[in-house]
Amino acid sequence: MRIMRMSCCGTEWVGPDRAHCCRRFGGCGAVFDDAQLWDTHRPRGVCVTDPRELGLVATRNGIWQRALDAAG
Ligand SMILES: [Zn+2]
Ligand SMILES: [Zn+2]
Repeated sequence: MRIMRMSCCGTEWVGPDRAHCCRRFGGCGAVFDDAQLWDTHRPRGVCVTDPRELGLVATRNGIWQRALDAAG
């Protein structure tokens, strides 16, 4: 599998299919495993301060994913 490095607004991650909350558009700069998690972290159009409140955990690469996925 080809590894694609992404870089944006001071954040770096691996994988082109991640959902990035861009600081250039008023986001928090976080990177999420998929678009659904991205939606979850903005319940009222505002980023949550700490994605851990939503039951998410960050990978070593700084990508937020569901705790269940991380356990598996
Ligand atoms: Zn960005
Ligand atoms: Zn955000």
